[in-house]
Amino acid sequence: MVITKDLSRLGRDYIETGEYVEKWFPEKNVRYISVNDGIDTFATNNGNNDIAPFKSILNDMYSKDLSKKIRTALHTMQSQGKWVGSKTALGYQKDVNDKNKLVICEEEAEIVRRIFDMAYLGTGIGEIKNYLNLNNIPTTNRMRYGKETYWSTRTIKKILTNQVYIGVTVQNKRSRINYKNRKLRANPKEQWYVVENTHPAIIDKSQFEAIQKMKIAQNYERIGKKNHFLLDGLMVCYECKHKIGVKKGKGNRWDMICNNYRKNSKLNICTAHGFNYKKLEMAVLKYIKQLFLKVNQERVELNIRNSNIKCDYQKMQEKVKNEMITLNNNLDKMYLDQLNQKISSQMYERLSKKLQDEMKQKELEYLELEELKNNSEEENEEEIKKVIDEFLKLEEPTGELMRILIHKIEIHQDKQIDITFNFRKLNHIENQDLHF
Ligand SMILES: [Zn+2]
Repeated sequence: MVITKDLSRLGRDYIETGEYVEKWFPEKNVRYISVNDGIDTFATNNGNNDIAPFKSILNDMYSKDLSKKIRTALHTMQSQGKWVGSKTALGYQKDVNDKNKLVICEEEAEIVRRIFDMAYLGTGIGEIKNYLNLNNIPTTNRMRYGKETYWSTRTIKKILTNQVYIGVTVQNKRSRINYKNRKLRANPKEQWYVVENTHPAIIDKSQFEAIQKMKIAQNYERIGKKNHFLLDGLMVCYECKHKIGVKKGKGNRWDMICNNYRKNSKLNICTAHGFNYKKLEMAVLKYIKQLFLKVNQERVELNIRNSNIKCDYQKMQEKVKNEMITLNNNLDKMYLDQLNQKISSQMYERLSKKLQDEMKQKELEYLELEELKNNSEEENEEEIKKVIDEFLKLEEPTGELMRILIHKIEIHQDKQIDITFNFRKLNHIENQDLHF
């Protein structure tokens, strides 16, 4: 049973109300009672029930009329440049004495000015975004509601093109399709209400217009382009194992940033790792140079201390050996099965041949690994020496060489660096801990 005070509480839309009262409720055997209207769908011979559809139409008309009146009132205010929106743009708040007037919120306006100044000096939106995020400049949501949100290029673009900052109020850009539908639709420009000088400006008009003419550089992607930096693609976040990129920081500084943090900053998955990139690069180069000099001068015997590669082949050999044992066991079992007449002799013949072939294969594999194990030692030795020589010879190593040399550089939040070389032997030379 559904009970409402009157019909309008069930719905102001007569089509929808009718659907319920006439169809849905009777179908589901639901009793509907409207107290004030005296409607009770289960009461037979109740005259009020017949009037219900008309009441619904009246309610609907009332809604339509009310909606029209409200809209007209809103449009009148909008055409006068009175602010009727709910959320004000960053930098403005509603006047406490007149809620249809905007006044500057100085604390917020400072951020707006900074964004416009950066754009005016030719800083791209992506760079502005990074600057704001890395410097912990609060977004509108954080400022007003304490919500942990971050700057996006979309927000910054919106700010840089918003005429509210030069004292212009633009309203009725979008409106509802009709009073029954809550969906918003963009209005053509002719329907906008644009009124100048409705409130104090935050940005100088000439500066604002200059920025509109400038093609706001989308150089965010360009900076992040691969191999732009010596250690690009090699830096990994120790805490979350995602790649670390390089972004423009303060002044001439380039800062690292954990990509996982950058993309999912809202989720608090990782920390920024926003350290000075150049410092890292210098520390890494210095460390490698020292390490290589040590290898050369002290004649560190790479093959004595570490036979990591040898070990790997050893492991592979062990695996093959185990497979051979399993094959052998199966052969034995099959032989017994044949004796116990669980399988026919033909079947035994066929399967055992197959297993024996496999066994031969495994034997060959084992021998191949043995050979690889012995050869790899010398080959790698030469290759490593070549790379070390090249590195020490060059004034400035190339990114290409770095990528041949290094597998990854893990960066800890406490600025510890772990370098993993592509040549496993290099990873086991004892050396001091690396920090920067
Ligand atoms: Zn991370």
